[in-house]
Amino acid sequence: MNADTVMFPALETLAPGIGSLQPYIPGKPIEELQRELGLREVIKLASNENPLGPSPRAVERMRECLSEVYRYPDGSGFRLRAALAARHGVTAAQITLGNGSNDVLDLVARVFLYPGVEAVFSRYAFAVYPIATQAVGARARVVDASIDYGHDLEAMSQAVTDHTRVVFIANPNNPTGGYLSSAALQTFMQHVPPRVMVVVDEAYAEYVVAPDYPDATAWITEYPNLMVTRTFSKAFGLAGLRVGYAVSHSRVADLLNRVRQPFNTSLLAQEAALAALGDLDHLQRSVLHNCQGLRWLSERMSEWGLPVIASVGNFLTIEVGDAMAINERLLACGCIVRPIGNYGMPRHLRVSIGTASELEQFVRDLRQCLA
Ligand SMILES: *Cc1c(COP(=O)(O)O)cnc(C)c1O
Repeated sequence: MNADTVMFPALETLAPGIGSLQPYIPGKPIEELQRELGLREVIKLASNENPLGPSPRAVERMRECLSEVYRYPDGSGFRLRAALAARHGVTAAQITLGNGSNDVLDLVARVFLYPGVEAVFSRYAFAVYPIATQAVGARARVVDASIDYGHDLEAMSQAVTDHTRVVFIANPNNPTGGYLSSAALQTFMQHVPPRVMVVVDEAYAEYVVAPDYPDATAWITEYPNLMVTRTFSKAFGLAGLRVGYAVSHSRVADLLNRVRQPFNTSLLAQEAALAALGDLDHLQRSVLHNCQGLRWLSERMSEWGLPVIASVGNFLTIEVGDAMAINERLLACGCIVRPIGNYGMPRHLRVSIGTASELEQFVRDLRQCLA
């Protein structure tokens, strides 16, 4: 018998939810594909990373700080929280830092969810919501959406019961790229019971140029049960450093901060995030690049008659047919994109907006794989 298959008593009494937990499937690392197929040239458009890279100022700041890493970071993240508070027009007491916004989502689950209560989210929203929910033994109420696989807010409203403690909403949504308008989200907030925490995950907010897209951080005074998560992983180009944060009522932030690991954001991460926040030119360039890339890729797909889901994020979800098979062929070409069968979308691939040459490469490879 293989050592991995041997059962032993310590595995018979796991915490609720853990035994059947399905792990998160990340984008395939470039090195892994290079190793597996002996390929040298590999492009990765699978994890919605910023193709322009981090702000040079963030890199410079990290260089300056390298010799300081023998010290613990400031566990309270004083300067970064102050800068974020200024950016959002809130107090520093309303900010909770996380090791990526994923960490913050886990903190929410640990504070508000437990066996016997429920979290509501869309079937077509971020894969971390079911994991965070199940990991603390709470029940997931998964809500379908008929239009473009996003969120059906009316159905989500109806799914809220006396047991519901948290609603997770991604805006813009991942893996589809669609967004909820200010009016739609306001209506939802007006109808949700005030004892339910609504977590609006705005990981892609910086990319959105649509005028009716809401910055929900502005509504927290009006709705103390609203909380917004943001990240430095996407438009700020710092995915490898792991920094995200929540903006919430200070009472909620206080609770999140109690369960947070005392040093959950590293010294380099805090300094780089602070420098990146101060480099709005880089952010603007990133957003502009994304608008151009998104438009270019959408046009190519529409020329070929391949349906896409209208996206305001830094990725485009394309209906290619048998996405698993096409993904395998793309991998053989050295092109890593994201199949999203695990979201119940077996006919779509999600493709990050890379550099112009990466997008051209993807389009060439896809043409070949579809032939
Ligand atoms: C990428 C992403 C995140 C960010 O994750 P980090 O942990 O901050 O890197 C959060 N929510 C959604 C919807 C995402 O797509």
